[in-house]
This record gives sequence, structure tokens and C-alpha cells, in this order.
Amino acid sequence: MNRLRPSRWWLAGVLSVGLVAAASAQSKGVKLITAADMKPYLRFLGARELRGRSAPSVELDIAAKYLAVEAARIGLQPLMPDGSYFQAVPVEVTTISTVRSYLRVVGPAGETRFSFPQAFTTTGPGASEWSASGGAVFAGSALNGPKPAWDDALGIDLKGKFVVVLDLPPPATPTGGAGQSASAARTRLLREKGAIGIITLVERTREANLAKKGLDFDIRERLRFLDVDTVNPPAVRAAGAAPPAQAAPASAPAGPFYTVEVRHEAGAAILGVSLDELGRLIDTVAGAQAVAPRLLARRSVDIAVAFDQRTTTTPNVVAYLPGSDPRLKDEYVVIGSHHDHNPPREGRIFPGSDDNASGCVAMLSIAKAMMAERPKRSVIFVWHTAEERGLVGAYYFVQHSPVPVEKITANLNFDMITRNDPNGIYLIGTTKLSTELDKSFRDANASIKLTLDYKYDDPAEPNRFFFRSDQYPYIRYGIPGVWVFCGTTPDYHQEGDVEEKADYGKMEKVTRLTYLVAMDIGNKPGLLKLDVLPEVTTRGKHNMKVVWQRAAPPSPPR
Ligand SMILES: [Zn+2]
Repeated sequence: MNRLRPSRWWLAGVLSVGLVAAASAQSKGVKLITAADMKPYLRFLGARELRGRSAPSVELDIAAKYLAVEAARIGLQPLMPDGSYFQAVPVEVTTISTVRSYLRVVGPAGETRFSFPQAFTTTGPGASEWSASGGAVFAGSALNGPKPAWDDALGIDLKGKFVVVLDLPPPATPTGGAGQSASAARTRLLREKGAIGIITLVERTREANLAKKGLDFDIRERLRFLDVDTVNPPAVRAAGAAPPAQAAPASAPAGPFYTVEVRHEAGAAILGVSLDELGRLIDTVAGAQAVAPRLLARRSVDIAVAFDQRTTTTPNVVAYLPGSDPRLKDEYVVIGSHHDHNPPREGRIFPGSDDNASGCVAMLSIAKAMMAERPKRSVIFVWHTAEERGLVGAYYFVQHSPVPVEKITANLNFDMITRNDPNGIYLIGTTKLSTELDKSFRDANASIKLTLDYKYDDPAEPNRFFFRSDQYPYIRYGIPGVWVFCGTTPDYHQEGDVEEKADYGKMEKVTRLTYLVAMDIGNKPGLLKLDVLPEVTTRGKHNMKVVWQRAAPPSPPR
């Protein structure tokens, strides 16, 4: 809407450079934000010992407690009605029952019973309890070669039976594809032939890893967050959620089809061989020698999967710095980040140092700086939970805000700030609701001199980052928001996202920049003007109906 013409931008830029350079030189706070101050915080919050801080988990609760204790030590106040720093976000957790689930092999020599998660698992926690029993067919090498050879497996009647396969490198499809699509094609074929499920013996190095580390299969959790409306565009849901269990290809016949994985001991029992014999069988099939499929005569497999359900909470950490102006202190700048990350997978830990211990630490440093020069407006620091589960903590905060949302001038969201270009940073969202937010960043940057990159600001950009962090729920509430973001690396969501790789120099600059913006918007005479979208003129839940992926707001002035 109210885009300034280039000539006026140039003039405004020249004037504001001088003013802000002077302002930041006078800033007592900005000099308190240093790499040296932030490093010990990041070494704790980004540590492997916190096991990825997944929501909900004990380790995330420890991280939250640490943030609350530090917030109090710095001098921030609690804001929740119960006088604490914690906003409890309720969540219903469903897991496969370790007590009531079993896999039983019945053969000529009697029956052997195996347990979850020691011996078997099934894809995802699923939605409802199930049990199935039937004979079993060993697929041999028939399903590991190219698809035409799969027909060899069909000489045996598969109706009502489990098909047992060895997990080898995924079969190639006739079109040359592999992996997911091949396995989906395989499932479709087996369902068409009337099989009731597929039992996969885990791949040999995976079996060895589990054995060596003394691990079981992971106990995955299906989460249902309560009292929160996170209705997201499909792309966000796909990025955050676990795949639904027993998902059937659209064209597959009706009827249940179960996907089960077994360790080698249970696999050997199903096949009726010793572990040594199983080893030789794997060698043979892996060596591309043809092994004919066979009916596992006179034995059957019973599987029962039950679920346990509990309701717990996971915390947003909320801390408050009262504004210095008696009139403006009833308005708020919300500075945020997320403190959760992802759970371990079979012993692999994803420390999430850049994503997003880094943003959590930047907030502590800003809080310290603001103790030296309080802005006129109050500042609320929110460390959100369950961002990785679909921005849940941020949605929960705006929907259960301890202050009126129409009094929140803006949300400044840190999520990943320590990697990539040492002198550049991506800004996402500044142009979307208020031209004043973007201008504030440009003005503040006159003294910081980072390259401000708007590559990901467009909701239509293929990565769709606009929808993928905690500023988005605020923006959906009509609150101007920004995601300050360094971009992804090959370590994103991997074991390599460790504190040792943090660029503290960059972290210092990015944090100082955002601090200056927070001070600027915290001291302005009014709330940031909503002057970009005609349909968003007031803050509040009613803006949730704005469809962002189609709105295509104007691109930023260059
Ligand atoms: Zn993140």
C-alpha cells in the first residue's frame, strides 16, 4: 500500500543514517551485547547432553528452567498469572504400549513372544489399536531386484499373509527411481495380492548399531496439542508432522495393511532359522543371488499393537521487562525464539545449537542490555515450545496471551543466527504488515552494516520459510513480525548442528541489530502502523482468515 517511492527512500535513508549512527553510538545497551557474553549460554543450551530438547521432554524442561533462572537473575519479571515464568502448553501424548503390545511367532516347536520396543516396531504410533494374525511368506530376493522380477513373488498365494523381507538398499523401479516410490509400489502390489502386511528385517548396519549401543527401537510419540488452533497451510503441516501410520496409497484396495520392522532375533524366529543361518541368507540376497520366495509352512505370526495415552504440558518461558514510560508501558514488544528441537533417533542426537539455542541466547543478551536502558514500552521475552511440532508454542501464546494482543506492537523472532555468510542475514516478514518495521531494521543497520537479504521474504518462495517459524502465528494475528534467520546448512536438523560451529561474531552483530530495532519500536510514539494490507488494519484473531500464500504482498523496496 504505502510504499515510498525510491527518491524518498533515498532521502529518508540519508537522514536516518546520521540519526541512528548517533543513537547507536550513544546506546549503553548495544555494547553489552558481546560474543563473549553469549558463548557460555550457547555452550549449555546447544549441548548434546540436552538430547535435542524435544517437546515435550525432561531435557526441554531443563532448558526452560535454565532460561527462567537466567531471566530472573538478569532482572526480568514473571508475567504469568500464577507468578511463574512458565506458560504450560497442554499436550496429549500417544505411544505404543510397551506392556500390551507383542509379536508372537507360533511354529512347530511352540510359540515365542517378542516385545515392543526391544524386538519390533510399527510405523508411527498410529491412530487405533490393532491386532492381526496370519501365515507368512518369505520374499527371498524377489522384491529386492527391479520391479518386473517382483512377479516371481507372486507364485505363492499371499492372501491373509504377512510378507517377510530383508531391508537391503531399496529396489529400483522400472523407471529407474528408488527408495520411497519403489517401496510404495511394492506395498501397493502386496496389497493387491491380498497380503495383510509387510515385516521388514532391519538392515544389517542398523541392527549392529542398535546391538552395540544397547538400544531398542525408538518409542515415537504422536502429539495432540490441546486448546490451540494451529490451522496451517499444508506446507507447514507437512514439514512438522510425523507421517500418519499405515498410510495407504490412494489407489490401494481397502482393508488394513500393517508395516512392521523386526530386529534380527525376531526375524530369525519368523523365518525359522538360526542367527547364523540368517546371516548367510542376508549375504546371499545382498550378493544379488536369486533366493526363491517361500511359504513359511506351519508357522504363523500374531501381532497386537496397543497404545498408551497421557496428558502433560510443555512450557513457553515468559519473562517481562516493564516499560520506563508510565503511559506506554501498557504496550508491548514481544521478542521471541523457540527452545525446542527434535528427539534422538536410534541413538543419534540432534543438538540444535543453531536451531535454535542460538536465538534463545540472543534474547538473554538483549535482556541484559535492556537493563541498562529500558525502552518506554514493556518488553515480553517468550521462549516458545514446540516450534518444531508446528509453531505450537507461538500459536498458544497469541491465543492465551497474558496481555491484550492488540497492545503488542511487534514480534521479533530469532530462529537460527550463527551460520553462513558472516556479514549477511535474512529478514522474513518485515514488509508484510507495517512499513515501519522494515524501516526500523534499515535504520538500525546503518551502524551494524550487515547485508539484509530479502530472498526468503516472499511467501511464494519455494522454501516457504515465511510460514515456518514463530513469527508467523503473530503475523496471522495482525501483529507485525520478523524472522531473523541465517539460512540452513547441511547440518540443519542433523547431528552436526553443534555449538563449536557457531559464528559468534555474526551472532553478536545480528543480536545488536535486533536490539536496536527493539529499542526503536519500543520507544516510538505509537504502535507500528498497519499500513501494508488493506484487510489487516487492527491486531487480533480475526486476521487468521487472511490467506497468506495467495496474498502476495508487495516486495520490499531495494
Ligand atoms: Zn528452528
